[in-house]
Amino acid sequence: MTDYIAIPEVFYSFAGGEPFQSCTVCSKNLLVNDTQYIIEKAIRQYPGYSAQDIIFEYALCLPCLSRMRNEVSPDSAQIITDYFNSAVDLPGRREKLIREAGLQVEKWISHCLITGVPSGNIAEYHLYAHCDGGDLLFSYLPYMISRDAVEQISLMLSSETKDIINGFIDQHFSFPPHLKELLKKHNALIT
Ligand SMILES: [Zn+2]
Repeated sequence: MTDYIAIPEVFYSFAGGEPFQSCTVCSKNLLVNDTQYIIEKAIRQYPGYSAQDIIFEYALCLPCLSRMRNEVSPDSAQIITDYFNSAVDLPGRREKLIREAGLQVEKWISHCLITGVPSGNIAEYHLYAHCDGGDLLFSYLPYMISRDAVEQISLMLSSETKDIINGFIDQHFSFPPHLKELLKKHNALIT
């Protein structure tokens, strides 16, 4: 059984000021028990200021996520998995955080998962959460990845894979065109 808490504000939809209501792709209601989904939020901050900008945000139900993943070649999926495994021991990290930080979400997202750099020293980062209905699950997520590390992963993927991901965004995301371009430019869905 996975530990969980009510979705904290840091993972609310910035646009709505409340938890995400529906899947960005299939519009399914997410706030129903036994409905798992992931959230990605890209955030820009300014050293010395508390203000933050949300670059983009979305919530994607697991069936939609695996539909996208299935379009990506097994080779590319393996590259991402290998990169994660070489950079971080996800089960070990989870165990350590549960032991030392418990369910204090800010401790789970305080440093880049890949580089270990603290969020205060990062101009732009992506936050990821795994949720079920109104709950945030402490699986291997939540975590934060700096834009630099997301870029690194993006550089390792074939242009074919990136085209597939971008095509998925174009075809399935219910976003205006300028927001889709932002998602692509900032490598949404890469991780
Ligand atoms: Zn969906």
